[in-house]
Amino acid sequence: MAKAEVSLEHLFRVFTKPEHDDSTLAKIERHLSDNVSDFLSQHVVTKKTSLEEIEKDFSSAIVPDSPEFVSSHAESLLDKLVAHSVNTYSPTFIGHMTSALPYFHLPLSKLMVGLNQNLVKIETSKAFTPLERQTLGMLHNLIYKQNDEFYAEYLHSAEHSLGAFCSGGTIANITALWVARNLALGPQRGFSGVNKAGLAAAYRHYDIQNMGLMSSRRGHYSLGKTVDVLGIGRDNMLCIDSPRQILEPEKALAYGKAYQQDGNKLLAIVGIAGTTETGHVDPLCELADVAKELGCWFHVDAAWGGATLFSDRYRHKLKGIEKADSVTIDAHKQMYVPMGAGMAIFKDPKASNAVRHHAQYILREGSKDLGATTLEGSRNGMAMMVYSSFHIFGRRGYELLVDRAIEHAQTFAQMITQHPDFELMTSPVLSLLTYRLRPSALKALSECSSAYQQHINGQLDELTVSIQKQQREAGKSFVSRTRIEIEAYNNQPITVFRVVLANPLTTEQNLEAILAEQVELAANNPIWLTLSQTPETLHVKTA
Ligand SMILES: *Cc1c(COP(=O)(O)O)cnc(C)c1O
Repeated sequence: MAKAEVSLEHLFRVFTKPEHDDSTLAKIERHLSDNVSDFLSQHVVTKKTSLEEIEKDFSSAIVPDSPEFVSSHAESLLDKLVAHSVNTYSPTFIGHMTSALPYFHLPLSKLMVGLNQNLVKIETSKAFTPLERQTLGMLHNLIYKQNDEFYAEYLHSAEHSLGAFCSGGTIANITALWVARNLALGPQRGFSGVNKAGLAAAYRHYDIQNMGLMSSRRGHYSLGKTVDVLGIGRDNMLCIDSPRQILEPEKALAYGKAYQQDGNKLLAIVGIAGTTETGHVDPLCELADVAKELGCWFHVDAAWGGATLFSDRYRHKLKGIEKADSVTIDAHKQMYVPMGAGMAIFKDPKASNAVRHHAQYILREGSKDLGATTLEGSRNGMAMMVYSSFHIFGRRGYELLVDRAIEHAQTFAQMITQHPDFELMTSPVLSLLTYRLRPSALKALSECSSAYQQHINGQLDELTVSIQKQQREAGKSFVSRTRIEIEAYNNQPITVFRVVLANPLTTEQNLEAILAEQVELAANNPIWLTLSQTPETLHVKTA
């Protein structure tokens, strides 16, 4: 590896221009972007190298002593990093919420990195701060549809904020429920508020045993982190059984009442608009009413499903979201923005004052600094990517993408249902579904005795795990897997393939090929071979 000289002159050149001449950087950039494009036109996994093998390239824990030329370092990145990355752009990569990005993000991200603005305060961001406030306002409007006067008053107000921009859904959930906690245990006569006095004093003052957060069992694991970080404790994460994949309002009400009667206080009910595992949407309207009756905050986690609000045809699926006190949205999921773009949106522009903080050298009182109400400190200008995407696609452009994804999922569900060797485990509410391989000889399994079901499902679980791994290792396509309770099988947890149809470039042929590959892999699997020979007499209920 060519080593560069150790001198301030060399380092100054690294800050200002490439080490040789002006055209070198352009060459490096072209070289990198050609290589990235080549890479992105290939399979999901380009090189079948084991993780252990790759780790050898990253085995030294010593910071290199001497500088390296940018050009030779770029070569080594191509070799060690790019070549072994996962091609999330592949149309057959349908296992996760991370997918292809529109091309314009690459040049735009150069602008963002190049300007290196810090959104924590106006002194280091200027125009980016109004841009971020406007972007938050657009999301607020998409959810709450307030009138022009409302946005004229609050969009750029120093005393208010319509939301908090952050790195993702996890921080958005924590931020929203941090606000909810500080409001629920706020200052009163003789009590300075939980933010000052702490949780123990707050529980004493409010005379409560514990505080709990409720969601269905399909709640994202970031909610567990939230109760941990907020000091409420993971034992007070109230996960309600959800064999129908949703939080049933009657169950929520009964559980919440019992919890409060025991001397506890419910912090919030979390309704999910698009669960991570199955894409289901909780009955938001009814849950909002339950939260009202129980006297707690109502938060909607629309990290993934929020983009559905763009669609005139499907936004009704999120009906009731406008009743939420706060909403989480991830722009880096269905809004096709690069990783690192989450938002917590608040119905009440005053709500986030519950976490407002000041510091002398920064975030002075009365300033419009966004950092005064965010959990994170220094933040980059990611809001620009959301802002630009909103302009470049437009609401109607997003609508087309959302509609296509949902309808694609419906088509895929049909393909699965019509195939004798597959079983659709959860239908797509949005663009996510789960299914598994199940030999046609076992079509009547859900009508069999529960002992027999358990026995067979155990073997099918093993089959699903093994096929999913083999398919991933083959590198042509990727579906993920999860384990969820299924109502049709007496709420038994079952391992399923999980598919997210996010990439607009995925075709029906891609989907057919993925199913065909799974059938092919199954044909050589001993579990499949045994189970597919189950006698037809199974149609008679096994005692
Ligand atoms: C992805 C997701 C999150 C977490 O978001 P990150 O951006 O990964 O932090 C939270 N809730 C739901 C429903 C999600 O789908």
